[in-house]
Amino acid sequence: MSLQPVLVVGGGIAGLVAALTLKKKNPQLPVVIVERADAPGGLLQSKDYGEYGRFDMGAHMWHETGLAELDEWLLGLLPRQDWTTPDGFVRERPGMYANGTLQTNAAFIDLRNLPHDHYKACMGDLMAHLNTAYAQSEPEVEDSAYEYLLRRFGATITRTVMAPAIEKVFDRPLIQLHPMALSFFNLGKVLAFDASIVHDLLQSDVLRQRFGYSDQTQLPKTLVEGRRLFYPKHGGMQRLIDALVDQLKQLGVEIWTDAAVSAVTYAHGRIAQVTIDRQSLNGHNRHHREMLAPAHVVWSAGVHPLCSLLGLNLEVDYFDRAPKTVLVNLLLEKPVAAGQQLFYVYCTEPGFATYRVVNYPAFCPDAIRDAGYPMTVELFLPESQTHDHQAVAAQAIDELRRMGMVGADTSVRFSAVEVLKQGFPLPSMTNINLTECRRQRINSLGLANLTMIGILAEPQLFFQPDVIRDTYRKLVDFVDPAPHAFSAGMHDTEPTQTDSGYAPSWA
Ligand SMILES: Cc1cc2nc3c(=O)[nH]c(=O)nc-3n(C[C@H](O)[C@H](O)[C@H](O)COP(=O)(O)OP(=O)(O)OC[C@H]3O[C@@H](n4cnc5c(N)ncnc54)[C@H](O)[C@@H]3O)c2cc1C
Repeated sequence: MSLQPVLVVGGGIAGLVAALTLKKKNPQLPVVIVERADAPGGLLQSKDYGEYGRFDMGAHMWHETGLAELDEWLLGLLPRQDWTTPDGFVRERPGMYANGTLQTNAAFIDLRNLPHDHYKACMGDLMAHLNTAYAQSEPEVEDSAYEYLLRRFGATITRTVMAPAIEKVFDRPLIQLHPMALSFFNLGKVLAFDASIVHDLLQSDVLRQRFGYSDQTQLPKTLVEGRRLFYPKHGGMQRLIDALVDQLKQLGVEIWTDAAVSAVTYAHGRIAQVTIDRQSLNGHNRHHREMLAPAHVVWSAGVHPLCSLLGLNLEVDYFDRAPKTVLVNLLLEKPVAAGQQLFYVYCTEPGFATYRVVNYPAFCPDAIRDAGYPMTVELFLPESQTHDHQAVAAQAIDELRRMGMVGADTSVRFSAVEVLKQGFPLPSMTNINLTECRRQRINSLGLANLTMIGILAEPQLFFQPDVIRDTYRKLVDFVDPAPHAFSAGMHDTEPTQTDSGYAPSWA
């Protein structure tokens, strides 16, 4: 008699860390990961261009989680010498392109780069605003990004600085966006004071909520979070995923790729059966369907697909569609012309499709190859725009030149364009509220053998370190269930659509 497996749905970083946590704590527990794509890794995969190297698709760095055991497992996946951890590498060094200026001092919008009259109007209005009851009131749950900023900064900064920046990124009015949108682009604070006085001013809680430290290289130790950053010296984030997958296999985890959950049934407060459509088995192209009665389901494949599979659709089912996330991977003949030390540069400048530039050599000198200096430009393009790859690459390079990051005399040795199937989420009020309703509906079923992890399994859960911390905490005390027969039924079948035709886990 074998144990019923724990079924982990989704082989992104959350699913892989879930399986690792379960197996480390319960070595005898059968664990099966089901991944719809042809390889695990989800958003943390890298794209391999052979001699031109690998470029990352989602997150571009490994952050310590602050949970000692988990950090030890994950950092232990690669030999110590295979990680890059430059001196003082305890936080990112981001920059920002805003108001026509490439800011290398920090990634908050620097009001000091505004024309003087505009700066004075912003600061005068903000100082008057800080004394109002509205400024001192707590944010409301239903606040949009507009109300959130208005409460924090008053009208002038909100309307004339923040609104154009965030509206350019997500191409919709500030009032339609959730405050979570601000955290993606460092728009919760501004810079306004010189470094010589900012340290004293930031002793005040009221000011610290609104102003950033003006020079990140001078950030006092007391303000540094202290969690280290790591990056594989060779092979990008994919190297970490490959090592994690190898380790899981050694621990006896089964990983089914090209396999998607297409139906879920429940009864008596438990998930009773999960149907999995597999496109290939042992390398043979053969559609077949498996029915499992898992001991437990760890779901990392999105709140919306699960809600749909459980038959819990809401009456209101309208999503705001996200712009397309497009990555342009480049090898430059020379290092970037300005901001060489910056790991990332965010771009909130109206008229630019770029929202972030990743400058690999700044955090991984080994990323420099014979062929050149790698860089990824991340852009949002309208859903309706057709993506002529040459034109998109040319647009990205032109924007880099306008930002001053690439000199007019620098040639591009290699370029490739990737349109992400599941790109950056659109944190509109509609989408976040719908996600919240659906999460609550699933939770209200009280299914005893279901654990939800991954992006938006909890409110505001998006960034990779938060996702894996949440995963570990939910599963570290998982109790090995009593043995039952592992009963998988298998049927040859026609291919079926996954997710009941429900496309995005995020809109
Ligand atoms: C463009 C972009 C840039 C980002 N940059 C950063 C960053 O700089 N820093 C940071 O911390 N975070 C960043 N993130 C977020 C980070 O990528 C996520 O926190 C992390 O990858 C989430 O992992 P996950 O496993 O929850 O989701 P995913 O990686 O999306 O994994 C979910 C998996 O489930 C699979 N799946 C879906 N439906 C089914 C089904 N029915 N059956 C089986 N499998 C299914 C999918 O194929 C996928 O592999 C970024 C995200 C994006 C999109």
